[in-house]
Amino acid sequence: MIRPCTVVISGKGGTGKTTIASLLIDALIAAGERPVLAVDADPNANLHEALGVALTETLGSMREEAFTRNIPSGMDRTGYIKYRFRRVLAEAEGYDLLAMGRPEGSGCYCFPNALLTECIETLERDYRFVVVDSEAGMEHIARGTIKSPEILLIVSDPGARGMRTAGRIRDLAESLGLSRDRVFLVINRDRGDAAEKSDLPLLARIPEDPGVGEADLMGTPIIGIPEKSPARAAVRNLAGRLVEECALRKK
Ligand code: ADP
Ligand code: MG
Repeated sequence: MIRPCTVVISGKGGTGKTTIASLLIDALIAAGERPVLAVDADPNANLHEALGVALTETLGSMREEAFTRNIPSGMDRTGYIKYRFRRVLAEAEGYDLLAMGRPEGSGCYCFPNALLTECIETLERDYRFVVVDSEAGMEHIARGTIKSPEILLIVSDPGARGMRTAGRIRDLAESLGLSRDRVFLVINRDRGDAAEKSDLPLLARIPEDPGVGEADLMGTPIIGIPEKSPARAAVRNLAGRLVEECALRKK
């Protein structure tokens, strides 16, 4: 089994994480880096809409039942959880999608840390990439439900405030044990003017793209924007850079 390269996309709300995650998943698949495991770690799951797939269940909605219900005879709890886990996955061409959903009750996902990794392993699909659409707090990394990534992309707009927030997210990542050489900045909604300075290494600039706004307005999947769209072309380059970075880290 090959070890996938995990890329977590973080950043302040509204900076473009979901937009970039969906285009990145699409670009990786097009580049032959498949299958991809797409993880929606935003409690307000909407990555599936950007990708244009239906979501029936989240890990959050499944876990309570899986942990409390009487399990079918002949199955142990772990076996039952693994079986249910497969049903939470939405399967699509070139990728599977897993939505973490909301923490329920006590605010705890109560999903034993190692179990999620184990579940993913039992799928026996040689994922080449795991792409995580995260929130700024990176709860799942903090809790250990998502393993520490090979690459953390922090998305920011080109402004000074955005850069300061990006710096704070990097500090948070560091406090979670992520080394600085894994953290990169992605500037989104770039309008060609000079961006504010940041000490984070810049991996990509994604231009402001009217096609993205249009898809948003119409409620159509982001990945349906034309091949030649500037944001799409920029994310294609980003995918290429990530393939290189991941290859370096596997050596
Ligand atoms: P997040 O997931 O970080 O909250 P979204 O990906 O949902 O952010 O994007 C927030 C808003 O910004 C959406 O309305 C989206 O259409 C718009 N947007 C994001 N990236 C771009 C871009 N490159 N060009 C134009 N609009 C964009
Ligand atoms: Mg989002």
